Amino acid sequence: MSKNPTTSGSLFLVSAPSGAGKSSLVNALLKLEPSLQLSISFTTRAPRPGEQNGREYHFITIEDFLQRKNHSEFLEFAEVHGNYYGTSKILIQEAMQAGTDILLEIDWQGAQQVKKQFPDVASVFILPPSLEALNERLNKRGQDSQEVISRRILAAGGEIAHAPEFEYVIINQDFELALSELSAIVKATRCRTSQQSVRNAALFAQLGI
Ligand code: GDP
Ligand code: ADP
Ligand code: 5GP
Repeated sequence: MSKNPTTSGSLFLVSAPSGAGKSSLVNALLKLEPSLQLSISFTTRAPRPGEQNGREYHFITIEDFLQRKNHSEFLEFAEVHGNYYGTSKILIQEAMQAGTDILLEIDWQGAQQVKKQFPDVASVFILPPSLEALNERLNKRGQDSQEVISRRILAAGGEIAHAPEFEYVIINQDFELALSELSAIVKATRCRTSQQSVRNAALFAQLGI
């Protein structure tokens, strides 16, 4: 038995440089794994065309963000590409207490903060097959200004340097292959003895484990 079996829910964390395909992969994963709950972050970034408040992000002002930060409402927060991003502490706490599996789509700075608080988090870094592909995807997505794209490409090298800090690395060349790898990580994490012993406590007791 795990030393501290407190919840049967697993915590997942996915990071990537902008344009690597993180959101596309996570959205496809959520269709395969409907019981997985995506944490909707708070951000001071302006919504992209088609983005809806409360769906991709809670879009808030800098004043609102700083007030929430001062009230310790964030599990983690970071400044990424000139905007603030943060994860709601209360929403994560509630989901964890309910035993729900949660996925955070956050940058490497936030990942470091989460890993300190939840050492068991299953962390995944998504790599593009090349910097050229990253450039091409950001341009093809066509949702950011040229200035924003350039800023993100310039930041990519520094972000990629943090990949070794993550438990898993997925190379998103073939989308379906990358998706199956991400799905496999979710399934394997759910089979961790620490999770199974809580989720199936009665069976474990019956079997004398
Ligand atoms: P994308 O990189 O093209 O998906 O662009 P976004 O503007 O959606 O995200 C920008 C960066 O902020 C990415 O590295 C995200 O992983 C990160 N990010 C999003 N939400 C959060 C959050 O709640 N906390 C932290 N620390 N980072 C976040
Ligand atoms: P991120 O969330 O990491 O910024 P997105 O999921 O928005 O990245 O993907 C960036 C762009 O690349 C999108 O237009 C997406 O359709 C495309 N894309 C994602 N994965 C692949 C892939 N394996 N091959 C080609 N294009 C991809
Ligand atoms: P985008 O603006 O393209 O949606 O996101 C840019 C970056 O911010 C991505 O790397 C994304 O993962 C990160 N990000 C989004 N939400 C959060 C968050 O709540 N916390 C942290 N630390 N990073 C986030």
